[in-house]
Amino acid sequence: MIAEQMREQVKNSSIIRAMFEEGKRLAEIHGADKVFDFSLGNPNVATPDSVKEAILEIINSEEPMSIHGYMNNSGYEEVRAAIANSINLKFSTDFNQDHIIMTVGAAGGLNVIFKTLLNPGDEVITFAPFFGEYRNYVSNYQAKLVTISPNTLDFQPYLQEFQEKISLKTKAVIINSPNNPTGVIYSEATIIKLANILREKQKEFNSHIYLISDEPYRELAYDNTEVPYLSKYYENTIVAYSFSKSLSLPGERIGYLVIPDSVADHEDVVAAANIATRILGFVNAPSLFQRVIARCLDAKVDIDTYNRNRELLYQSLMSFGYECIKPQGAFYLFVKTPLDDDLEFCTRAKQKNILMVPGTSFGCPGYVRIAYCVDSGTIERALPGFKELIDECK
Ligand code: PLP
Repeated sequence: MIAEQMREQVKNSSIIRAMFEEGKRLAEIHGADKVFDFSLGNPNVATPDSVKEAILEIINSEEPMSIHGYMNNSGYEEVRAAIANSINLKFSTDFNQDHIIMTVGAAGGLNVIFKTLLNPGDEVITFAPFFGEYRNYVSNYQAKLVTISPNTLDFQPYLQEFQEKISLKTKAVIINSPNNPTGVIYSEATIIKLANILREKQKEFNSHIYLISDEPYRELAYDNTEVPYLSKYYENTIVAYSFSKSLSLPGERIGYLVIPDSVADHEDVVAAANIATRILGFVNAPSLFQRVIARCLDAKVDIDTYNRNRELLYQSLMSFGYECIKPQGAFYLFVKTPLDDDLEFCTRAKQKNILMVPGTSFGCPGYVRIAYCVDSGTIERALPGFKELIDECK
């Protein structure tokens, strides 16, 4: 018999994954070109050539056991040093290898840091709409995810409610910018206010509140919009970075945590995060891909392809009468549903072979997420269906 908690989790299993399976099923029935699957954030832009070259170079020039062996739980020292240098150059920080822990993607990094920090009953605050997996990651450690209502005006965090919901139980706050599902980048003004609130509350409660910055979309920002580097604004910041989207490597499971000296109880946090990496069963991040990304820290995917999709989808949906904020980053459009019930809207869209994820799964009912990391032909062929949908709902 499976565990009670898993029984619940199987029941509520990710709508996003279920949609992905549904897309494959519909494609078998109707043909792939007649199914418009906007459900999953699986990058469609090619991995940079330098990644392939690095893989081949490493495989062809090094001893197998230096490529495939175990290493420290935190990862290869030279890889962590290269990452620290690269961050220092970009953001004028002062990190070194001791501040970096290699992880199994952002998902692995978030689980490591939650295991490191959370006691049962602790609270982690996040802002709706948010990546739905946070619910599972936080409940893995018997902690509670506290959500702040969405600010549907511009999807910047709603700071008044945030201030009110911080308590002695608040151990961490997790934010994600550029944001999944809205594509909004939290502005510098927002970050400064958020940091000030956190500092005040730490004083009031005589506690440490860690800010976890979940950053898989950092490199996917359009129109040269700045994505503030949070460690510079708030001393208790831990960054969870991933190469899944920035280098189109989601299946390779590679990322890192940044835990600077300025973080409260820094040495204990780093030591515990190393042990968490081991005892969660990751042991270490994938060996070959640590070596690969160290050689590709300046590589970039072709963001123009995403940008063209963003323009095409945004302009077209607005002209049909849909309402949405123009995304500044990531590859998602978060659209207000013309029906109040976003689940019903997704069901109607499915009848036109259009698959999207209801806002409810991001803690924001009445909206739908469209992942535009697909080829532009899919968007073009889906547009008549989007127009029919809104016309039928009016
Ligand atoms: N955080 C957010 C906001 C995401 O959108 C995703 C993946 O879509 C993840 C974390 C997990 O990313 P990774 O593939 O690096 O584990």
